[in-house]
Amino acid sequence: MNDKRVRVRFAPSPTGPLHMGGVRTALFNFLFAKKQGGDFLLRIEDTDQTRFVPGAEEYIMESLDWCGIKVDEGIREGGKYGPYRQSERREIYKKYADELIASGNAYYAFDTPEALDELRKKAEENKETFTYNAATRNGLDNSLRMTQAEVEQKIASGNNYVIRFKMPVNYEVVMTDIIRGEVRVNTDTLDDKVLFKSDGLPTYHLANIVDDHLMKISHVIRGEEWLPSLPLHVLLYRAFGWEDTMPEFAHLPLLLKPTGNGKLSKRDGDKMGFPVFPLFWKSAEGETASGYREEGYFANAFVNLLALLGWNPGTEQEIFTLDELITLFSLERVTKSGSKFDPKKAEWFNHQYMMLKSDAELATLFQPVLNEKGIEVDSAKLIRIVALIKERANFVKDFWDQSFFFFQAPVSYDEQVVKKRWKNEVPSQIASIKDVIANVSDFSAARAKAAVSAHIEENGWAFGAIMNALRLCVVGAGMGPDLFEIIELIGQQETVLRIEKALAVLK
Ligand code: GLU
Repeated sequence: MNDKRVRVRFAPSPTGPLHMGGVRTALFNFLFAKKQGGDFLLRIEDTDQTRFVPGAEEYIMESLDWCGIKVDEGIREGGKYGPYRQSERREIYKKYADELIASGNAYYAFDTPEALDELRKKAEENKETFTYNAATRNGLDNSLRMTQAEVEQKIASGNNYVIRFKMPVNYEVVMTDIIRGEVRVNTDTLDDKVLFKSDGLPTYHLANIVDDHLMKISHVIRGEEWLPSLPLHVLLYRAFGWEDTMPEFAHLPLLLKPTGNGKLSKRDGDKMGFPVFPLFWKSAEGETASGYREEGYFANAFVNLLALLGWNPGTEQEIFTLDELITLFSLERVTKSGSKFDPKKAEWFNHQYMMLKSDAELATLFQPVLNEKGIEVDSAKLIRIVALIKERANFVKDFWDQSFFFFQAPVSYDEQVVKKRWKNEVPSQIASIKDVIANVSDFSAARAKAAVSAHIEENGWAFGAIMNALRLCVVGAGMGPDLFEIIELIGQQETVLRIEKALAVLK
């Protein structure tokens, strides 16, 4: 088994935008395959036509593209095991369902949805739940109770039917999960799942097993929510006689809400103030959901933060390139327990990636924001500005709030700061500082600082108090990087004008 080529698949159903947990599943599959020189497939599982959402497929592919998760075989890439969209493989599945009937592992069930609903309701009234299984199947409308001729007759006369798996009675299924170890389930806790529906399409379970087999998948790496389906899947492999080539399974831990209570759901994100989708999404009904890309995350920061949700390298290292992740990744280091999503940590990751970029690149990313505001700034100057403020930002979109004062004089003054800093003899001290600044020759941050400091010292004033008030004049608030750097960048004349204006406005 170990000499078999590694082939993994990401198999989303196109029922809406891809959740970040789905992207993590894709990423772990990709890392696992690439580490071993294997193949990463994208298979679209769209056999549930009622849940199909237009645009979802494109969204999935664009998300993977953005993350740099390269698909080797898929609906767009093609490949020799295609088609890779299950709705285009419909002719394939019926034969396998028939095979299970012939071998006695499945049966036709003619029960109408209404009849089953009735049974469910009745059970509920008795505080029970109705299950289609060994205990009930013999009293229901299925081929187990009919002769071959009766079954054929029923089908020929156009009765709707489904094909159900005949779950063995009281049998212990022993399975191995790479992350969880041995898992045991008794079949008496399971039901006779529908494998093939009346619309002529297979259900997820049948299509998934048939395709994994035909596509020579070596490892199934998927979310924990599929663990309950594993016994059925393993029994299907056995029923088909494919156990020898059955893939190995690994079920990834859930992503949990920041509070740790429950899984991170599609609805959590915008409610809790962070995206849960990789890209912005707008549904046909006009509903929108924010995406990491549009919120200003760098793709490599997003990939990095996803990689550490449920996996760790066993060292303190937190920042990884995709190539490093490929080298370091292993399923053995994936945790069993759910991993709590921390939105603050996510922002921290973006900050780290921002700090790795050159000031020139960040200036280029900031430029469109300024263009939109009609602000023209020399690129060398912009690079210096970005260098001064980037430490205080997590996203390029934060740059403006950290730097507006480089481009425009204050239009108002932070009231709190005014109350705290603009009192007693401070205004008159600032007036004299203004003259000092106006008289600096060969103006620079260092020379302005030297002159101002000397003046403060000569007069025996408090340096901090004056600096805070001067910042208020120049910035309009108590924020920003080194004041003399700001002064140098806006220039001597502009600094003097701003002080004059503040003296006039604040009185
Ligand atoms: N179509 C399933 C999903 O949407 C795939 C589960 C699996 O990987 O087996 O998640």
